[in-house]
Amino acid sequence: MSDNELLKNINPVDAIIEPGQLLLEEKPLLIITEWNNQQMKCFNCLKTSFVMCTKCRIVPLCLFCTTHDQFECDFLRKALDEGISKDMLVKNYGTFPLLKLLLLMENPTKKQYCEKFLKQSVQLSDYQMDDLRKDYEESVIQPFLSTGFLNKLTSIGEKIEDDLYKLCILIDRNSIPVFASDDSILKCIYQNIGDIESSCIPNGAITVDDAFNLRIFATVKIFPGSKVSVSNANPLMDTHERQLFYHSKRLFCTCERCRDPTELNTYINAIKCTSCEEGYMTFALGDTLWKCELCGANSSISDIAALKSNIEDEINGATGDMVTLESLLQKYSKILHTNHFLLIRIKHNILMILNEILFHKKAEELKERKIQLHEEILPLVRLLSPGISKLYAFELHDYLSSFIQLDRNYIHKDIVPDKKNAYKILNIMEEVCKNLAYELPNTQEGVLLQQLLSLKKTVEAQVNSSK
Ligand SMILES: [Zn+2]
Ligand SMILES: [Zn+2]
Ligand SMILES: [Zn+2]
Ligand SMILES: [Zn+2]
Repeated sequence: MSDNELLKNINPVDAIIEPGQLLLEEKPLLIITEWNNQQMKCFNCLKTSFVMCTKCRIVPLCLFCTTHDQFECDFLRKALDEGISKDMLVKNYGTFPLLKLLLLMENPTKKQYCEKFLKQSVQLSDYQMDDLRKDYEESVIQPFLSTGFLNKLTSIGEKIEDDLYKLCILIDRNSIPVFASDDSILKCIYQNIGDIESSCIPNGAITVDDAFNLRIFATVKIFPGSKVSVSNANPLMDTHERQLFYHSKRLFCTCERCRDPTELNTYINAIKCTSCEEGYMTFALGDTLWKCELCGANSSISDIAALKSNIEDEINGATGDMVTLESLLQKYSKILHTNHFLLIRIKHNILMILNEILFHKKAEELKERKIQLHEEILPLVRLLSPGISKLYAFELHDYLSSFIQLDRNYIHKDIVPDKKNAYKILNIMEEVCKNLAYELPNTQEGVLLQQLLSLKKTVEAQVNSSK
């Protein structure tokens, strides 16, 4: 875990970087649970746990781990002998991530690995204006203080509660969610990820393999002087929603898209103005109101939030019901811009149903509807996720299934490609593969890439033999 050599050349970039080039590579510093996790997890490997460590008796272990870090275990055992309750973690489960980090900070042979990440500046004044501090106080900091374990630590200064809150913020800012082998969500803290900027139109992408090794690679050509950025938010949300998301993750984004009321001319946020009935209400970072770009009429943030939340409820209520979803699409196309993210959400829900039906039976009409919806969504995804993009690859892959039978297990002995579309099919496949080319082999995306490359060969052979 030495200082990352790659990182030195990217902040800012000192030479032209080509798409696909590796920018940062590192092992996780810590693997932790989410704050609200209630499931007992092994302190060593984070698998579901049913037993406690027989030595320190404080932390859970799984059936496969007989021990955890020697220092951690000795430290906890000593605390137990000095009167700390053996239930200190089990009864205050929200403290798991904090305890794990504090033990690392105490560990004389490992604490140097977290020095860099702990040195990041945190202005508590940036994090005071909401209820989130209260949440941390109630679910993490006060439960932790109640255990008395703080007295055993040397790494916390005088301003105890502020220091603990800063650690919570650093955990959030420097971690990314990952999927464990049992599909539960964990978080990994990386030493260097806090150095990378956030942008909703990023020039880098993150990939994490099944051992939680992180790689960041360039998605577009990057020129000297620019900084590398990654996106943590779903690009198919509007600025207001993305900002709420960043806020909850203790991140800040002031990118070009967040500052642009038209969201890069996509109008993915835009709601028809009810005053002039011609303009659209839009919102950019820093605005205190939604404003019509044409007549200047405005609406409060809370009114627009309520409108969107009602539409969302209606969409959620129509899950699996294609007729209702189609009528919601018609109804809200009159109120929202055609590119609005809620209309995209309805379209994605309709596509899910269409995929299910078309998987079982042939239905030309439904297939045409599927193609039409994909062709409406794809250009927008391309615009908001430029360069090498996993999101674009998945959208395209789904589009591909309109022209070729994609078996769920990719057992594709008898594919009969739609002959008149053979070249189109091969082009789409090529494009999907290009967008997945830098994913690690031991990831879901990497597996898909391998399957698709082999399927492509089969289709090419079939096309050639039928010439
Ligand atoms: Zn384990
Ligand atoms: Zn132990
Ligand atoms: Zn942004
Ligand atoms: Zn207007």
